[in-house]
Amino acid sequence: MEHRKNVPVDQLTYAAQMSHRAMGNNDVARVIKDITKSPTRAAKFRKAAVIGSNTTTTTKHTPEDALMIYTEADLTMSQYEVIHQANKDIYPCYSYLQKAKLDCYPPKNVSESIAEVKLQDLLDHTTLRLCKYLEPVLRQCTLDENNEFTLMYKWGCDGSNQKQYKQKFEEEGNSDANIFLSSLVPLRLMCGNQIIWQNPQPSSPRFCRPIRIRFIKENKDVTNEEIQYIDNQAQDLEVTVVNANVKIKHVLFPTMVDGKVCNAATATTSTLHCYICGKTSKDFNDLSSTKPKRTETIKFRLSILHARIRFFEFCLHLSYKLIAKVHKSRINDENDKEKIQMAKVKIQKEFKDKLDLLVDIPKVGYGNTNDGNTSRRFFENEDVAASITGINVELIKKFKIILEVLSSGFEIDLEKFSSFTMSTAKMYVDLYSWQPMSPTVHKILVHSSSVIAHALLPIGQLSKEAAEARNKHFRQYRESYSRKFSRRECNEDVDVSKLTGYLK
Ligand SMILES: [Zn+2]
Repeated sequence: MEHRKNVPVDQLTYAAQMSHRAMGNNDVARVIKDITKSPTRAAKFRKAAVIGSNTTTTTKHTPEDALMIYTEADLTMSQYEVIHQANKDIYPCYSYLQKAKLDCYPPKNVSESIAEVKLQDLLDHTTLRLCKYLEPVLRQCTLDENNEFTLMYKWGCDGSNQKQYKQKFEEEGNSDANIFLSSLVPLRLMCGNQIIWQNPQPSSPRFCRPIRIRFIKENKDVTNEEIQYIDNQAQDLEVTVVNANVKIKHVLFPTMVDGKVCNAATATTSTLHCYICGKTSKDFNDLSSTKPKRTETIKFRLSILHARIRFFEFCLHLSYKLIAKVHKSRINDENDKEKIQMAKVKIQKEFKDKLDLLVDIPKVGYGNTNDGNTSRRFFENEDVAASITGINVELIKKFKIILEVLSSGFEIDLEKFSSFTMSTAKMYVDLYSWQPMSPTVHKILVHSSSVIAHALLPIGQLSKEAAEARNKHFRQYRESYSRKFSRRECNEDVDVSKLTGYLK
């Protein structure tokens, strides 16, 4: 440890304290500060902690705290009543929880096929809830009057399948087979250049707040309409006035989107086109000119959840051709097709035998077995993966490193990362020039560093995992927690129940 030798201990402690504060660990920072105040302080602190853990004091939970426990433990009303009856001096009455719950919702508009909140209302509400929680920190910040506050969010939209219920729609033509959901996640609260709050779990659905939920099937028009709808509101957002000293500006990044949405939003017609540089699939292996043509498309960034799966699938499809020894991009010959099919079966069997993985097998209903977990296992066992697929093991390792760096959520050293991705792209082209990169592989290897350069936040924090998980919750809440006798009430319950997300 170079630092330990060269830097005095008090400076190290101070640095640790400041770094914790910047990351939002205010309690840790405060404890470090407290215990290093004087030489005897730490001993007193420990003594107090031991005494504290031995004496039991009963304090009643606030309705907010109780509501948090209620939500976290997934309790039903009757379960809560039982607990409340047994511990009346700890848990408040259920009616207080209901009131606290209502405070968690911004003003909303719910009908049988739509549930929405105005963006401004949602941002105001999110901000005020957050500021309530951050009150002591804000008081510190407002000592200097010139401080400007900015709250950053990521937002996005996506469609998903839902169970169809037998409720009748009042209006003809409405269906509940699909929902289209737009949502946002607060990421970071800045005071000038200082980070005073950082979302501890940017990929968790806990902080994901729905803007609009519609029973409608995802398509290009619906996506564009949604982006327009949000963009229009985002253009004339007003600052949220928390108090006389704290006025908070809102900045939104449209990054929780997948390739489909990017293509729709940038009017890219073919999925084999790159929406950043405009190249088509056949030119992806040409690394000579990679400048983005349309800078406005860069704001859409990259989706990392799907990137790992897409890289994995790309490796699979490459390996079928490698094992079959058919080194061509287009397969027209029946003979070649048969060889590839045989290679596929052989590879699938080896994955099953050696890693216990089911790869590239269609699932009943939708999709296939290539999910996030399978792709993670593939890259974790790069040596086995290379021996099965016949792909150069160094290349798989490099892919793995790139995917890890992108999803890490840490700041990335752009110069190093850019040369690493470029060298990986060159290595790929040298090895397998006959097979053009897939759109995702092209985007990550060629454009990811310039996309990151335009991003204000670490790219891992901008991903859309949160929204993906939200869709799962929506399904669950609709099934378990909603009144089914009417469409409107059902939506109200889904919207009003845990979907809105609590900020403690
Ligand atoms: Zn491109």
